[in-house]
Amino acid sequence: HGDSRDFDEAVQSVCPFCGVGCQVSLKLKDGKVKYVEGINGPANEGRLCVKGRFGFDYIHHPHRLTKPLIRLDGAEKGLNVDPANPFSHFREASWDEAMEAAASGLAKLRDQGGETVAGFGSAKCTNEEAYLFQKLIRQGFGHNNVDHCTRLCHASSVSALMENVGSGAVSATFNEIENADVAIVIGANPIENHPVAATFFKQFAKRGGKLIVMDPRGHALKRFASHMVQFRPGADVPLLNSIMSVIVEEGLYDQAYIDKFTENWEAEKQHLAGFAPEALEELTGIDAATVRDVARTFATANAGLIFWGMGVSQHIHGTDNSRCLISLALMTGNVGKPGAGLHPLRGQNNVQGASDAGLIPMFLPDYQDVTDDGVRSAFTEIWGSGDFSGKKGLTVTEIMDAVHEGGIRGMYILGENPAMSDPDVTHARDALAKLEHLVVQDIFLTETANYADVILPAAAFYEKTGTVTNTNRQVQMGRAGATPPGEAREDWAITVELAQRLGLNWTYSHPREVFAEMARGMPSLDNISWERLEREDAVTYPSLSPEDPGQPIVFADGFPREGGRARFTPASVIPPDETPDADYPMILTTGRQLEHWHTGSMTRRSKVLDAVEPGANCSLHPSTLRKLGVEPGGMVKLQTRRGEIEVMARADRAVAPDMVFLPFAYVEAAANILTNPAIDPYGKIPEFKFSAVRVTAA
Ligand code: SF4
Repeated sequence: HGDSRDFDEAVQSVCPFCGVGCQVSLKLKDGKVKYVEGINGPANEGRLCVKGRFGFDYIHHPHRLTKPLIRLDGAEKGLNVDPANPFSHFREASWDEAMEAAASGLAKLRDQGGETVAGFGSAKCTNEEAYLFQKLIRQGFGHNNVDHCTRLCHASSVSALMENVGSGAVSATFNEIENADVAIVIGANPIENHPVAATFFKQFAKRGGKLIVMDPRGHALKRFASHMVQFRPGADVPLLNSIMSVIVEEGLYDQAYIDKFTENWEAEKQHLAGFAPEALEELTGIDAATVRDVARTFATANAGLIFWGMGVSQHIHGTDNSRCLISLALMTGNVGKPGAGLHPLRGQNNVQGASDAGLIPMFLPDYQDVTDDGVRSAFTEIWGSGDFSGKKGLTVTEIMDAVHEGGIRGMYILGENPAMSDPDVTHARDALAKLEHLVVQDIFLTETANYADVILPAAAFYEKTGTVTNTNRQVQMGRAGATPPGEAREDWAITVELAQRLGLNWTYSHPREVFAEMARGMPSLDNISWERLEREDAVTYPSLSPEDPGQPIVFADGFPREGGRARFTPASVIPPDETPDADYPMILTTGRQLEHWHTGSMTRRSKVLDAVEPGANCSLHPSTLRKLGVEPGGMVKLQTRRGEIEVMARADRAVAPDMVFLPFAYVEAAANILTNPAIDPYGKIPEFKFSAVRVTAA
């Protein structure tokens, strides 16, 4: 570090990147972060990955927005208007002028009637900011057209968990792997995407725990796996059903647990009879002996955990995939005891909290049904205002469709980047360009901000105070350390002023007041107060008393469903929306890399991370590259029914010969130009993990 170790203040906060929620100590000098150290948080126990340790300097990047901006009269909207100087079609404005322009444009649309305004909040903002954002749309516009990027990551997992378990959060922390005998990690690449959680998984394997890794890509966790099940892309349901059919056939299920805690077992059992692994080898790509071994290993262990990621959720059958995982845990009695449970590894540092706070179109805070009159009136009482619509709002991709159809004409987007993150992003960009009024609140002039009418400069995570909730249900205190640049302001304060200018009687002067209001309507926050979090830094929900640090394992005595029972929901095989054919013969799957975070707006402006991974790339099997006549490092062209890109190709034996893996962080070769917008009918999540693609030498 050289003299960067020279600091004059240390402030404790939480890493702004992934859902692991590592606690950090920010070493500060002159209002700037000099370096970051991991501290002993409940999730990370002092550890950090490369993003947490070195990925902080984006907050001091010269590209930071420091003043509000207003689009020049008549200036064209879009990414390619003036790529060399994207600021050229905006002018600086005072906060007063920009807020007036932002609010009056949205109010004008509202006052014309109909549900013509929508909002995208962010899982990178605090719980208080997420809560205020959804409240603004509901109270200020009278409807539920509010969503965020959970729709793109784990919406299908949450829909299956809500349906069958009664709660969308994890049943056990990932640290519980310490008490497990066996763990399944499916459709997740934790070494790259949840790196500190992966260190616990590796330790588990090293001490003899059975680690069953299932994924179409043979990623790095494979080296620690007792079983590596590299199955055909999209074959999750037949594979999981065949594992469960072996458990039924060989009588390895836990009848006592099933009788006491579940319903619909007989239907599940009958359904599984059609999934003998011997009949499915071609479909799944896995031989029956391996399936039987995996089934026996998981079912006969004393305690087993199931972790899953977006390889499971981002399919049109994502909800079915999660239903299978839930059934597998239930039939083996692996919920509600030490070392056992269901754990969707959440992506963003506050995607659990933002969802809990109601930043979703079908639920109010704590997943309370927006169509329930009693629930709505409880919130209007807390908010001291009249009713809002009892109709479920539109989701992320539905909102973009509604813009094209003319139903949505204005948007308020806080910290999301749909011009990069949405599937079939050309469709999303065209929608953004069509909006009559777009307000974007962010820390950089993101790809999405290029379409804005008004841009409001926000504080970065290390510049603001608020709570976040990680994948483990741990509510943690994030504290402001660095000083925001120029006139940038904390997101909650901007949203409060916008609400006031839209005519709402909001008087919050600190996030602690917002947290107190949240706690009134959210039973999950019982016994968790702002003051307690200031004192203790983290409390896991549910917390049973003001002294209880929280419950790492839930559902020991039953489930939050009618009768206290979880449900088996049988899942049938549904093929991907788009299967390879003569024109598009290969399979495209997208994802993240260790060094870059989502759409790259932060990590590509971080010196160390950008130096390690400086440009767009894709991975192909060496034999595929040879067939194409392309050397590793050469360029390939990827074409789908939505569009085409050219990108540098790496040789990677972990990728099957008929697949291409493409990270989505790079605007110069934006993966989502290619992806299929088809969605899962329950979670409304797009099928990012499977598109038919043609690959040629560029
Ligand atoms: Fe941050 Fe996640 Fe890395 Fe921890 S594991 S340092 S939370 S990116």
